[in-house]
Amino acid sequence: MKILKNAGSFVILTPEKELHDQLLRIERAGRTCYQSEKEQVTLETAKNFVKMIIKLGHESVLEHSSMVVQFNNVSRGFTHEQVRHRLTGVSQESTRYVDYAKQGQGPDLDKFQLKCVVPPHRDENEKVELDDSRKMSMKEMFAEIEKFYRGLRKAGWVPQDARQILPIGIKSQIVVSANFREWRHIFAMRTAQPAHWEIRKVMGDLLEKVQKIVPVVFDDFVQAGKDSNGLRYFEKVKK
Ligand SMILES: Cc1cc2nc3c(=O)[nH]c(=O)nc-3n(C[C@H](O)[C@H](O)[C@H](O)COP(=O)(O)OP(=O)(O)OC[C@H]3O[C@@H](n4cnc5c(N)ncnc54)[C@H](O)[C@@H]3O)c2cc1C
Repeated sequence: MKILKNAGSFVILTPEKELHDQLLRIERAGRTCYQSEKEQVTLETAKNFVKMIIKLGHESVLEHSSMVVQFNNVSRGFTHEQVRHRLTGVSQESTRYVDYAKQGQGPDLDKFQLKCVVPPHRDENEKVELDDSRKMSMKEMFAEIEKFYRGLRKAGWVPQDARQILPIGIKSQIVVSANFREWRHIFAMRTAQPAHWEIRKVMGDLLEKVQKIVPVVFDDFVQAGKDSNGLRYFEKVKK
């Protein structure tokens, strides 16, 4: 069993140049509304245009865009929250088809290792007393689940049947496509203080990255504070 702590990460699969080009496309599309087409659209004119439409709340123009992001070492809880965002395209690691016992050529149930995401602000070795008076840590509980899964698989249960025992903290991977307007909505919901610590951390890191590589579009989000665990939260401000 492997514990993943603060391991959630992302890779932006859309090339940086493509992200910039999309700003130009947004300006071209948006100027149709005002019949104010320009002969020469540049990154500078596009930045000013996009700033203006965000200020006006004319965000539908931002839909002429796309950014694809892969999230790694996140839990099934994270991905379940992510897939609630309906205006996205999604491809996610399957617990039906992925054989968690597979190592190398074929399933090796003895080598099978469950990977689980734990809260970074908790000690996964802290023992708590159970109803039956046993004392167990979260780490030991995950190790038990690993044993249950291995037992079912060794008894001939296929992955899609044995998966019913897997925990919500199991490591997963997901690729998400969305336009800039939807990413703004996702950031607003998932980096705010009430959001779950795991998605808030990873989305906060992603927000910071896109603020550096995509001009203007995400500039109105600012860090608004830290919670009692020292984890940052953000909010959208009027610019
Ligand atoms: C702190 C927090 C706690 C939560 N707790 C719960 C919970 O206890 N239980 C639960 O079930 N969910 C919960 N959620 C999930 C939440 O209810 C939403 O499903 C999720 O955040 C996706 O938001 P959305 O529907 O606004 O966004 P998206 O699906 O990303 O849609 C973006 C926007 O498009 C528009 N839109 C999309 N589809 C439609 C439609 N069919 N009709 C009209 N407009 C549409 C809406 O304006 C929407 O805001 C929670 C979310 C957060 C952030």
